[in-house]
Amino acid sequence: MQIKFTEISPYGSSYEVQRLESLVTQKDFVVKSPFSAQCTLKRKGDSKVEMHGRLKTCISLPCDRCLATYDVAIDTEYQILFETGSSDSWKVKELECTLPDLDSIVLDEPVIDLDDVLRQQLYLSLPVKSLCSEQCKGICPQCGVNRNLAECNCANETPVGPFAALVQLKK
Ligand SMILES: [Zn+2]
Ligand SMILES: [Zn+2]
Repeated sequence: MQIKFTEISPYGSSYEVQRLESLVTQKDFVVKSPFSAQCTLKRKGDSKVEMHGRLKTCISLPCDRCLATYDVAIDTEYQILFETGSSDSWKVKELECTLPDLDSIVLDEPVIDLDDVLRQQLYLSLPVKSLCSEQCKGICPQCGVNRNLAECNCANETPVGPFAALVQLKK
């Protein structure tokens, strides 16, 4: 959804998105439960728009350690300041000082691509390190078995690696 600055009320315009087309095609994760995002846009003069909103969904993504997919509930709130480059730059500076926590995005045109913004927010809310659980045992580097699901006997065998020779000497 493309929203022009001129369509946005200075008193706040609300938008609701139930589906992000662009999420269907990406490969990093799968959106499982209905996607829901609410946001309110408020126009601040000709060149700035303030946005705040909330995004809720459930995604399924692969664990970095064992590669099994697992579900993560996403519920994130965001606040963004959009501004078009040129005019009022000193005022923007002033605004940035008073609102240090606000993410600001500089746009070439006074148009907000809502899908793009929401997709970005979804990516930002993904876990930095994707683990199915803190206790995930990962995959055995020797036989490739998922250690969360099955036990293998590799750990009891002679270790491979730089210390293998030392172990041999001790015997
Ligand atoms: Zn895992
Ligand atoms: Zn193994």
